[in-house]
Amino acid sequence: MATFNINNIIRPNVKAMKAYSSARDEFKDINDGFVFLDANENPFNNGLNRYPDPLQRNVKSILRENKNFPANQILLGNGSDEVLDLIFRAFCEPNQDNVIAISPSYGMYSVLSNLNAVEYRKSLLNEDDFQPNIEDIFSKVDENTKMIFLCSPNNPTGEIIKRDSILEIVNRFNGLVIIDEAYIDFATEPSWIQEIKNYPNVIVTQTLSKAVGLAGIRLGILYASQEIVAVLNKIKPPYNINQLTQLKAIEILSDYDKVVTATNTIIQQKKVLENALTEVSFVEKIYPSDANFILIKVDNANERYDQLVEKGIVIRNRNNDNLCKNCLRITVGTEEENGKLIEMMKKLEA
Ligand SMILES: *Cc1c(COP(=O)(O)O)cnc(C)c1O
Repeated sequence: MATFNINNIIRPNVKAMKAYSSARDEFKDINDGFVFLDANENPFNNGLNRYPDPLQRNVKSILRENKNFPANQILLGNGSDEVLDLIFRAFCEPNQDNVIAISPSYGMYSVLSNLNAVEYRKSLLNEDDFQPNIEDIFSKVDENTKMIFLCSPNNPTGEIIKRDSILEIVNRFNGLVIIDEAYIDFATEPSWIQEIKNYPNVIVTQTLSKAVGLAGIRLGILYASQEIVAVLNKIKPPYNINQLTQLKAIEILSDYDKVVTATNTIIQQKKVLENALTEVSFVEKIYPSDANFILIKVDNANERYDQLVEKGIVIRNRNNDNLCKNCLRITVGTEEENGKLIEMMKKLEA
């Protein structure tokens, strides 16, 4: 088993730097009786005239309850995008280090890798079951490999990565393993967050953009060891989660049963949609999905995509992704939207 030591992977400049100390960091005890003349804010109350809590304590305390996870091991970002960018900036030395990701997968990892001048190495999934090829991944690891990205359930393929595969990667690799669980609420397998206490090199990311239905507020969540979260807290922009986002997140997450009910409705609709798709003549394959979308193989993806847009239905053409020739990705919508999709697809058959 490889040994993981955060001191071996943190960038030297990040290790040495001192965090910006904001007014709200220096004086935390927000108390109604106090007069705050420390942050050059406007004193006239409009509900948003004060800087937001830089550590988002109220949001995290609800997440701690909902997820049964320590609040001081949670980091919030302006979408998963910011959280992922912070990981690159904390641990990958530009023009020196590299990361490995499964392919096909979420496009943002390679964008962030390019932006941070970090080499991006792709490891193709096995074609038959879209599971990672572990030997191929490790053939690409060298002394400058800092992170391995596993998206599970994976976008755009929809499958969850088997627990044994993740476990083997986590055990063999002495860098960080990032498990992107944007779609975990739709999956049949549990999240990896409860394993973090056993595997300090695991970082799990989730988001409020999918199952929770708050893509518009931009809130990404990272779960990791206290050590990793402390490093990321040091380098994050001080007020990265705005007050409106914090308030809306608290409101929606406080009624978690409602979120779970909506998620179950989408899972139910996915089954209905999968069934209906089997009856569309040009659909050649429906891949199993643990997410809120379905990847299908059709006779001619470019043509079918254009035809559907013409009928006012926009899905995602994944024809140019590795292993996805003639594949389309369909997000599960409402019963009505899904019905309309199927109706239009059947009209195209003739
Ligand atoms: C949609 C999605 C996200 C969410 O990103 P946000 O910036 O939080 O909206 C993250 N990872 C994957 C794989 C996704 O498909």
